[in-house]
Amino acid sequence: MPADKPSQPDAHDERTSRPPYALSDEKKKSGFTAKYTGKCYCGNVTFEVDADPVDATYCHCRSCQHLHGAPYQWAAILPKDALHIKTGYDDLHFYSAQHKKMEYVLPCKVSCGQCQSVIMDEGRNMALLMPTLIDGMGEAGPLKDNGPFRATHHMFYKTCVEPVHDDLPKFGGKKGEDPLDEKAEEMAKDVEKRNKEKEEEKKKKEKEEERDAKRQKTGGGSKDDK
Ligand SMILES: [Zn+2]
Ligand SMILES: [Zn+2]
Repeated sequence: MPADKPSQPDAHDERTSRPPYALSDEKKKSGFTAKYTGKCYCGNVTFEVDADPVDATYCHCRSCQHLHGAPYQWAAILPKDALHIKTGYDDLHFYSAQHKKMEYVLPCKVSCGQCQSVIMDEGRNMALLMPTLIDGMGEAGPLKDNGPFRATHHMFYKTCVEPVHDDLPKFGGKKGEDPLDEKAEEMAKDVEKRNKEKEEEKKKKEKEEERDAKRQKTGGGSKDDK
């Protein structure tokens, strides 16, 4: 073996004990019923999914074009505990775009260690799965017209290299940013509304935590806390 063979550092042994490499404690209890199954090009990596994606997108950014050698990327967003890598999880390649290194630092790109198919972008809580790997995609049945994995929009369309003539909203930047048509303008309003709600929820939670911390400091439950 040549000495300069890139190593596949995987110092994070805890990786294989949590989703998507192992079932979460919750799913161990409630059960994981595979709704979809999938595999990489060589079949070494197999996975199952127990939920419909939260959203799906076509991304025309330059990074996706470089990484996939394709005009654009199709990705579906799932909570990590809805995805379970069944086989091949000990022979994966990880790439941190931030560090420009093959290392397991979230977020990172995850691909098969044998055939190099990109499986997903693994984030802290969510995974961006490549739906093209799912069994039965494009066939009749629940995945006809891509089923729930159908992309809801195009993003980074400003760097599009292969124009797509469909009825999906198109954004120049990420979803909600720089709407390029009327449908995208409508969707941008929804995104803004949801972001505001999320922001308010976050603020509320922070305030509650602050109050709890104060209470604990003062010995808890004092009457003038009301
Ligand atoms: Zn493979
Ligand atoms: Zn992209």
